[in-house]
Amino acid sequence: MPEAEAGAAPPRAIEAIASYHAHVYFEGAEQRAQAMALREEIGRRFSVTLGRVHDRLVGPHARPMYQVAFATDLFARLVPWLMLNRRGLSVLVHPNTANERADHLVHALWLGERLPIVNVEMLRESNEPEGPLAPNTKPEEGA
Ligand code: ZN
Repeated sequence: MPEAEAGAAPPRAIEAIASYHAHVYFEGAEQRAQAMALREEIGRRFSVTLGRVHDRLVGPHARPMYQVAFATDLFARLVPWLMLNRRGLSVLVHPNTANERADHLVHALWLGERLPIVNVEMLRESNEPEGPLAPNTKPEEGA
């Protein structure tokens, strides 16, 4: 959906957002080490669902990465924390609504370098939003 079209639509309620993903990208051994350290730091501080580390390209992502899925009520703490602590890495933060194509291309925000979204045709324009999250971290430190 072009930006101009999105602007012409009536405002959408934020309740359309079921959850968020942060995708942390890395390239090369040094960035990978930084990304793994960041992953541990996130897990120690936030109740999130840490996804597997993808060293090969998957889905619409143009670099190796891992996913951090988190509930909407965590946004105001986790995203600012990432702003301060992303270790120079590119991070894509996107909402999960019923349109994963727009979620990645129109509604996303980027921390650091903005990367291309690839394989756009794979992203559905009408999908069930993700169900409730099952966090797999046990935070023991404050953010
Ligand atoms: Zn995602």
